[in-house]
Amino acid sequence: MSDDASIHHRGLSDTLLAVRDATFVRGDTVILDHVSLAVRRAERWALIGPNGAGKSTLISLLAATEHPTRGTVEVLGYRLGRVDMRELRAHVGLVTSRYPLTSALDAMSVVLTGATGTLEWVPRWTPTSEQVRRARTLLTQFGLDPDRGLRWPTMSQGERGRTLIARALMPDPAILLLDEATTGLDVAAREQLLTTMDGLSRSHPDLGTVTVTHHFEELPASTTHAMLLREGRVVAAGDADAVLTSAAVSDAFAHPIEIARTGGRWTARATSAG
Ligand code: ADP
Ligand code: MG
Repeated sequence: MSDDASIHHRGLSDTLLAVRDATFVRGDTVILDHVSLAVRRAERWALIGPNGAGKSTLISLLAATEHPTRGTVEVLGYRLGRVDMRELRAHVGLVTSRYPLTSALDAMSVVLTGATGTLEWVPRWTPTSEQVRRARTLLTQFGLDPDRGLRWPTMSQGERGRTLIARALMPDPAILLLDEATTGLDVAAREQLLTTMDGLSRSHPDLGTVTVTHHFEELPASTTHAMLLREGRVVAAGDADAVLTSAAVSDAFAHPIEIARTGGRWTARATSAG
């Protein structure tokens, strides 16, 4: 399975990700318990739950970096375990808050490593003019000046976040996964990143996205669907407005929480009475 052309996603059905009855066990711990999820083209999913609920583990299945212990995961119609995972990964953009880059690459170089799928710059690799053009366009789209020479070690968290989304989009993936990409940002940087994500609905309308968070204020207004996870189990999943109710969220967080949606955005407030 070395032929890169063997995985196509343009002509595939609308289902980008299909998790069926997936259970993930490590040692004696059931981390995901019979989880099912289907993400279709143009759907913007929010994956929400308390710390330790299994959100990052589910993301690692969707990103084709882990296999389920039981059940199946299909990425672009290809079943994990039956296809070269590395090939699939090229079609899935992944942004996490932990990005272990240590060298002082500038923003353009970081984005261009998305084309090689590597953390560091590949020695003696030269990007094509088309790749350079694409990297410039993506950075500009996210409000970063490609000519500023901004270097990774001195970038703000917000600049890093936007650079990493641009990097993830470099290979033109069908799916974009963000695992707590807005965590730790100040309010201005968070809002800028959320604007970036809302902009994706227009610039990349076919993209399917899954955004992980445990803060409702960090959900982009463009969110269409949501899944609530608690202790590895699905509390609710489907249309965002149907799922993100005070009752379901209180259940997921085992705490009385009042949810409101205003102007597309969500807020959560702890209530005293259960
Ligand atoms: P979340 O992202 O929702 O905070 P995770 O998916 O990171 O949750 O983890 C879910 C649970 O599984 C946590 O209790 C975590 O400690 C545990 N866990 C995650 N990965 C492993 C692993 N490889 N081995 C054992 N336990 C793990
Ligand atoms: Mg996590």
